[in-house]
Amino acid sequence: MSKVLVTGATGFVAGHVIEDLLRSGHEVRATVRSLRDPARFAHLDRIRDALGGRLELVEADLSDDAGWDAAVAGRDHVLHVASPFPPTPPRHEAELIRPAVDGTLRVLEASARAGVRRVVVTSSVAAVAAGRSRDESRQRTEEDWSDLDRAAPYPKSKTLAERAAWRFAAEHPDLEVVTVNPGLVLGPLHHVAAGTSVALVRRILNHEMPAIPELGFAPVDVRDVARAHRLAMEVPGAAGNRYICAGDNMWLADMARILSEEFGPQGYRVPRRPMPYWMLWAVGRFDREVRLGLDFVGSPERVSADKARSELGWSMRPLRTTVTDTGRSLIELGLVRSRQNGATRQLR
Ligand code: NDP
Repeated sequence: MSKVLVTGATGFVAGHVIEDLLRSGHEVRATVRSLRDPARFAHLDRIRDALGGRLELVEADLSDDAGWDAAVAGRDHVLHVASPFPPTPPRHEAELIRPAVDGTLRVLEASARAGVRRVVVTSSVAAVAAGRSRDESRQRTEEDWSDLDRAAPYPKSKTLAERAAWRFAAEHPDLEVVTVNPGLVLGPLHHVAAGTSVALVRRILNHEMPAIPELGFAPVDVRDVARAHRLAMEVPGAAGNRYICAGDNMWLADMARILSEEFGPQGYRVPRRPMPYWMLWAVGRFDREVRLGLDFVGSPERVSADKARSELGWSMRPLRTTVTDTGRSLIELGLVRSRQNGATRQLR
């Protein structure tokens, strides 16, 4: 049993990381930006009550030094999950890059000062394969890095934050660092503040897209991402390594087919028609999220999770289960509407 700090407790991934740690008997402290809005972390109290573990929340912001020394005090391990991941790109890329990079360094510096044994940093395949031509058939591995000159603000923030973490690790050999690099994280939500990645499934199930663009992703289940974080923390030989955690390329059309087969009979109108490029381009003129996808039309996302499988003993559940469980969770939380039931809840 370890004493663990998890950053960004209100987030989609961190909620599952905390649940997995508690279930495995670890004692968890977790950071939130503010303790003043308990509705944003009430789901964590429910998880702790159900599992009976030890969980405490403390305040710390990635953009501020305050709170980090107290947060890491007495911890064996730190899982640094927090990073800005907004649904639409910010006006200025520094709004993402600064908290991502400076926040990672704040967490690492405080951890080194406190004598923490290992810090697991949540990076992304966005730090591995972004900005590069996807039409090459080669699978990306942990040897690859995103092309900063061509990457959008979010992948840039993840790449720069991970690079900063490895530079810090090289200068502080007493502190072990591991990165987990997930693909598109899907799976059940703990609460209404859905993660940015799950919004893709919500948009399909809610018929917010008239047709399906030819976009490919390397999805992974949030429960498997959580387990990868724990394994990255527990497996002795993991120190100093990056681990990609993601499945094979899945086209959006395959995701829509699964959602249609599962939820169509319940009255959910899932678009199935392919969206021609010109239509995506036209939608992208008004929708910044869609505009970001234009560069990737028709190219699969190919990354390899072989290293995590062989070195961490990690495995993934079938992607059909992940997509179905995401849809079911969105329906249960009232975040999508069926033809019979018109209401949809607002996201944060
Ligand atoms: P969420 O948006 O759900 O969670 C992000 C978390 O980071 C929230 O707790 C948020 O706090 C916190 N955060 C953001 N900015 C700050 C800040 N300045 N100070 C303190 N906390 C901050 O995203 P996910 O759970 O999806 O992402 C979690 C991690 O996983 C991120 O590092 C992301 O880059 C990475 N990742 C996610 C993938 C995905 O597909 N979801 C894929 C690959 C990597 P608050 O609630 O207060 O805003």
